[in-house]
Amino acid sequence: MIVVFRLDHRRVRDQRITTHCALVARAFGADVFIYSGDMDNSLEDSIREVNSKWGGKMVVEYTNNPIQSLRSYKRDGFRIVHLTMYGIPFEERVNELNDKLVIVVGGSKVPGEIYEIADYNLSIGNQPHSEVAALGIFMYNLRRSPDLSNAKIRIIPSERGKKIIRID
Ligand code: SAM
Repeated sequence: MIVVFRLDHRRVRDQRITTHCALVARAFGADVFIYSGDMDNSLEDSIREVNSKWGGKMVVEYTNNPIQSLRSYKRDGFRIVHLTMYGIPFEERVNELNDKLVIVVGGSKVPGEIYEIADYNLSIGNQPHSEVAALGIFMYNLRRSPDLSNAKIRIIPSERGKKIIRID
């Protein structure tokens, strides 16, 4: 089970970026997307809509206590992977990670406690960029795929134009 954890969502400033984190999580096989900060029904609705059209079962949850929630995952045997530009290169650890992971991406300010709770503090290069980029690159390297058996629409990959099929 793969959980993606987005810290400190701000409803007005982070609307698109948190939605994009959730879309990346879903597309690359996360089972659960948890966010903290401001609760945001429109974020949750937009992911439900994508699931209903494109398939997938990723659940979106909110927590007002991210530290407690991460500790509880740890007690349940999950490894906590915190993506941070200060960490060690992700390539050094990605192959030893199993299928019970919480992947944490930060917001505007990441509390020091997160670095302590994390089993791994991993970087995608050691320059500042974006939570969406960091999550995408890291999850692509986990090589998981979502179960899209409930999709209503699917893309037929093609060199030109847009080919889709509708599934009824
Ligand atoms: N200034 C914040 C802090 O206190 O660390 C980080 C802001 S950054 C825009 C938001 C998030 O993007 C980070 O918490 C991290 O999860 C992710 N991120 C940005 N650059 C990264 C990198 N080079 N490697 C891994 N993650 C990165």
